[in-house]
Amino acid sequence: MEIRLTNSMTRRKETFAPLDASNVRMYVCGPTVYDRAHLGNARPAIVFDVLFRLLREVYGPEHVRYVRNFTDVDDKINARAEASGRSIGEITAETTQWYLDDMGAVGVMEPSDMPRATQYIPQMVAMTEDLIARGHAYAAEGHVLFSVSSYDGYGALSGRSVDDMIAGARVDVAPYKRDPMDFVLWKPSPGDLPGWDSPWGRGRPGWHIECSAMAYDLLGESFDIHGGGNDLLFPHHENEIAQSCCAHPGGGFAQVWLHNEMLQVEGKKMSKSLGNFFTVRDLLDGHDGLPGVPGEVIRFVMLSTHYRKPMDWTAEKAREAEATLRKWRALTEGATPVGPDAALVETLADDLNTAGALTHLHRMARDIAANPQKDCHIEKGVLLASAQLLGLLTPELGGWDVVGADLSGLATRLAAVRAAAMQSKDFSEVDRLKTALIDAGVEVRMSKASVELLPGAGFDAAKLEGLL
Ligand code: AMP
Ligand code: ZN
Repeated sequence: MEIRLTNSMTRRKETFAPLDASNVRMYVCGPTVYDRAHLGNARPAIVFDVLFRLLREVYGPEHVRYVRNFTDVDDKINARAEASGRSIGEITAETTQWYLDDMGAVGVMEPSDMPRATQYIPQMVAMTEDLIARGHAYAAEGHVLFSVSSYDGYGALSGRSVDDMIAGARVDVAPYKRDPMDFVLWKPSPGDLPGWDSPWGRGRPGWHIECSAMAYDLLGESFDIHGGGNDLLFPHHENEIAQSCCAHPGGGFAQVWLHNEMLQVEGKKMSKSLGNFFTVRDLLDGHDGLPGVPGEVIRFVMLSTHYRKPMDWTAEKAREAEATLRKWRALTEGATPVGPDAALVETLADDLNTAGALTHLHRMARDIAANPQKDCHIEKGVLLASAQLLGLLTPELGGWDVVGADLSGLATRLAAVRAAAMQSKDFSEVDRLKTALIDAGVEVRMSKASVELLPGAGFDAAKLEGLL
């Protein structure tokens, strides 16, 4: 099985060849923990979760190591603590757990390692000292800065010249900088800001150094894949490369760079001022009078767009995804997963073509549904295993669709009420039940022989209470 990935560094789709197939290593930049993850934050989590699952499928689960960090030292966290009167530790611990819960709810597996920046301060200090010793960084006024002009490769990832960067980016000019492009490795922490003792006085790290230090500590000086949202490409990833390659000139840092495009909502950039900003938790629990969306539905919608394309979240897509998942879950009920479909794995291995993989699932489901008289238990097992490779139709994400007991009771009741109405010619009770069922999002199929109740998109079990 050949995996091909679009490498942001070479701007080409390349055959993936791990440095060591018995130890495939991936690093992905994780969240800064000061608030609930918004829907956009779920995109990289899901995209790289699918890649993690694919790598495990191809190389074996025990041969893949996936590191995703938590940035738990950051000025946004300090500001949040200050504003709320709560401690930094309380905020980061709470937000970290929220993130794990919310990502778990959309089927994201826990990475092999989830290092916290604050646990790697000594490694960051050591790397910073090393960069000074090698002439790539300098200390000034309690700060340590990386000297961008000391590294020829700077700009290779983002494809920008240093002049363009100065013109285009908001570069902080500061008296302690030799060059406006130089970026902070360490800065002083006065007063009650979080700080650690260092050769440059009490201070805290700049943002970029944490990923370089943690990736080195956990994955070594060369590893296979580095991922994140494309908003991180510059300056964050450019700076990670500069730090790591200068501190470890023998290593290659990441071989393949993968970037997901951004998420939008109903065609617009998600932003608080446009009123279309929501967190994953808002969506799961329901918000602004809207009902909750099951995590599995959120995941499905995310997978329906290729990771390199901007993705548009729409309520319509969620409705369609919900109806599809209900159908697939009903179809595979009681099936045992066997191996995934080879053509689907191949599609997924072609630069994570998740949309193409969903098309395969649709086709398999259609073939099974077209043969109701056939038992199809192998086919159902393949459909289930294939969906599970994408993190769909897993037992953990199930439950939201389970209404079988209620609905079969109601179907029996409706059939009995109808039989009575045929005698009495009074159909008012039949109509009342039907209206209530339709109102709850249930499709009512009545034939001479049977009554069938199918939950549709927007199904709301709560509305059925008291009907029996
Ligand atoms: P942050 O906590 O802001 O550093 O972001 C965590 C991750 O979410 C990073 O990988 C970002 O690239 C990603 N991200 C932030 N906003 C969006 C968005 N609208 N769409 C997709 N990914 C996003
Ligand atoms: Zn990073």
